[in-house]
Amino acid sequence: MKNDRIFNFSAGPSELPLEVLQKAAQEMTNFKGSGMGVMEMSHRSKVYDGIFKETEAKFREVFGVPNNYKVLFLQGGATMQFAQIPMNLMNKNKKADYIVTGSFSGKAKVEAEKFGTVQVAYSGKEEGFTRIPKQKELKLSPDADYVHYCDNNTIVGTKWNYIPDTGDIPLVCDMSSCILSEPIDVSKFGLIYAGAQKNMGPAGMAVVVIREDLIGEAQSGTPVMLEYETMVKADSMYNTPNTWAIYVLGLVLDWVKSNGGTKGMQKLAEQRSQRLYDFIDNSEGYYKNPNEKDSRSKMNVVFRLPSEELEAKFVKESVAADMSNLKGHRSVGGIRASIYNAMPVEGVEALVDFMKKFKENNPV
Ligand code: PMP
Repeated sequence: MKNDRIFNFSAGPSELPLEVLQKAAQEMTNFKGSGMGVMEMSHRSKVYDGIFKETEAKFREVFGVPNNYKVLFLQGGATMQFAQIPMNLMNKNKKADYIVTGSFSGKAKVEAEKFGTVQVAYSGKEEGFTRIPKQKELKLSPDADYVHYCDNNTIVGTKWNYIPDTGDIPLVCDMSSCILSEPIDVSKFGLIYAGAQKNMGPAGMAVVVIREDLIGEAQSGTPVMLEYETMVKADSMYNTPNTWAIYVLGLVLDWVKSNGGTKGMQKLAEQRSQRLYDFIDNSEGYYKNPNEKDSRSKMNVVFRLPSEELEAKFVKESVAADMSNLKGHRSVGGIRASIYNAMPVEGVEALVDFMKKFKENNPV
């Protein structure tokens, strides 16, 4: 335990770096001599404009956004993007390919069906979403307006270890639960989106990175708030943006930068997840991860115990050991340790220690 804080394994909203929270607390009532806190500022004020511009510049730098892409800070979370993407991008043949590797990519597909024809390029549903498909398994259509996939599957704990090749067809990716956890070649994508509440800050915002040539041809009838063009022209401020979340994202980006950028985050993620997977794989089958090894997530580590009774006991006792949110998603059960960027390596060490003792105390 660090200070009076516990190790928080929540899948989202999730733990933030302590330094970020402390800095936000320090500036809470008076931001840099302005005499007011960020939450109280007009989004059109000079001071806030500075915060906004700096945050965007830092995001571009840390995420490596090329000049021909726009960065938007939007409301409605990642789920709003499930609709906003087809409204804006299903605009030529009114067709799109969806790769379904988990619950959220399935939801995105269902939403897209309201706006055009959806072809499922791959679905892992029958196999229980335990792996990511190989490139050759993807049945891509030559006339799709875009191809959508989800990079890290938060609930089942799988992750793509390659970027699918879609040729000239724009690739759209949900990176909600892995953004900023590794370097990404943004130029391979038409659009990347992510809800903020895991690796970027508080809930209530999604970051969208969109290639410029994809802007401006929304389907007719698209509400003005949901046209990317509206927000591009208005610098994400057609209406009042989530000023607080944008400010905290700026603080998180400072923290990422001072910890080695996305390369530094990747190293830490590998260290944390490897420690957990090694322990699980060497537990004589007491703890079991159901996923194929090269499809395993470095952000959401899921595992089962020998029985549901033991899983319930595990969760209960972990709370007494100052760890929280280890219960798996209600749709799949089991245990899930979400270990995003802000999770210190000590948090994983504490969890492994706890797992060791639990196994000794509860033999089967
Ligand atoms: N996509 C993924 C991969 C997610 O993990 C989540 C939320 N857990 C969502 C989409 C939905 O995000 P939001 O709650 O921001 O709408």
